[in-house]
Order: sequence, then structure tokens, then C-alpha cells
Amino acid sequence: MTQGKLIVFSAPSGSGKTTIVKHLLKKETLPLEFSISATSRQKRATEVHEKDYYFLSLNEFKKNIEDKSFLEWEEVYPNHFYGTLKTEIERIWAKGKHVIFDIDVLGGLTIKKKYPEQTLAIFVKPPSIEVLKRRLKKRQTESDTAINMRIAKAKEELEKASHFDKVIENIVLDTALLEAETIVDNFIN
Ligand code: 5GP
Repeated sequence: MTQGKLIVFSAPSGSGKTTIVKHLLKKETLPLEFSISATSRQKRATEVHEKDYYFLSLNEFKKNIEDKSFLEWEEVYPNHFYGTLKTEIERIWAKGKHVIFDIDVLGGLTIKKKYPEQTLAIFVKPPSIEVLKRRLKKRQTESDTAINMRIAKAKEELEKASHFDKVIENIVLDTALLEAETIVDNFIN
């Protein structure tokens, strides 16, 4: 496979998209590999460099922007940059796999615009803002300020759901997982 497909999962933080992406990566019938993004944010205790993210300093990240190394990048939160390195997609396609992304809404739409035919863009919708808030609090990885920032951003992101190829509503997780499997399987097989 010189060029495979691109499966984009975008959603407000706390919608459950990471859970869905991790689930799909475990399915042997789906030849997918995770696109490891670069980020300038701090590593969380449970995260592993070069597995969850390429953790870069702000200067390193900005150097990559200047060098045009990114397929897309966004300042998702103030001074917290996230981006997809072009080399990441080449690396995965060279292995004969399709690329699966867990990225923000604007980044997801950029990839869809750059590769319209090859990309399946999926939006994961939380049942409500209240549920989202509860999930983010339960996770205990962010301060109250950070949670409020994520909620404000979520409200903006929800308005963009209609630009995606598919919307999965994550009310009951098992149902959402099955729906995601079916949609992705139909697209790549
Ligand atoms: P977190 O800090 O919770 O890991 O991620 C924050 C947000 O950044 C999430 O919505 C995540 O999907 C998004 N994100 C992660 N990687 C990328 C990327 O490469 N590009 C863009 N645009 N967003 C990303």
C-alpha cells in the first residue's frame, strides 16, 4: 500500500473518542495504526513519549511549523500546540496500514480537506455538556480552570459536527464502539 486511508476521530475532550480509537486499534480485522501526534503540552504521569505523543518543547514545536513538517497543527489551548507530522502518515502507510487519528475538530477537518477521498471523518458527540463536565471531573487529570477551558471549547466544537462524514453519539459506550467498528470496517474493507 503506497497510500492507505485516513480515519479521523474528532470530538470535544471527554466525549470518549480516545476510548473508541483504542478499542478499534485492538481489532485484528482492522489494519489500523495510531497517528502519534506531536504536542507542546506537559506529559501526564501515565503517558509515554513516542507512544501517546511526541512531547516537544514549545521551541521545537515552532521549529517544526517553520520547517513545514506538519500536515496540520493547531494551538488547541493557549500555548498548547498539537500537530500531525507528515512523516507519521508516511511511516504508517509504508507498513501497509491505514492511519487512525485522535485529533481536534479543526485538525480533523483540515485532513478531510487535504485528502477528501481517502479520509473518513467521524465526529463523536457527547450526550450533553453536563455529562462532558462530569466525565472530565471524574478523570482528575485537569485543574478546574483547564476543565472550564475544555468545556468552552467543546461548545464551539459541537457546532461543527455537521461538517463530518459521520456522527456517533456516545450515550452507551458499547453501542458507540459497535457503531464505530461497523463504520470503519465498511470504509476500509
Ligand atoms: P489532550 O491534551 O487531552 O491529549 O488532547 C487535547 C486535544 O488535542 C484533543 O481534542 C486531541 O484530540 C487534540 N489533538 C491531539 N493530537 C492532535 C493533533 O495532532 N492535531 C490536532 N489538531 N489536535 C490534536
